[in-house]
Amino acid sequence: MEPGDLVYTLAGPHGNTIAHFAWTPKQPGAEIVHSVVPFIAVALAGFALLAALVPGTPCPHCHRPMHPSMALDLDHADDRSGYRGLAHASCNRRAGANKRNAARANTTLAPVKSRKW
Ligand SMILES: [Zn+2]
Repeated sequence: MEPGDLVYTLAGPHGNTIAHFAWTPKQPGAEIVHSVVPFIAVALAGFALLAALVPGTPCPHCHRPMHPSMALDLDHADDRSGYRGLAHASCNRRAGANKRNAARANTTLAPVKSRKW
């Protein structure tokens, strides 16, 4: 780490260090803050949710328990206005695929009705 690097240490609820954010300023201070803070805010929200996750909290998609050791995603609100919380990574991605598939469903053939002979 070089002198002049900025470091932000994220501490967990028990005072343990969860993450360090470090970057080397290449711009005057105010601009750095404006360009870096949104990324840190999203990262912090994710870390904070993960740190606050009670093991066994049900996934909003499949309602099976979530654990911090699992692959978890930050779940987007449907209208992209923000984040709803954590979900299984697989469930969150499947939900996104389902939305895309639903948009395409109009082009699929209607099921053929069985004929009475
Ligand atoms: Zn799930």
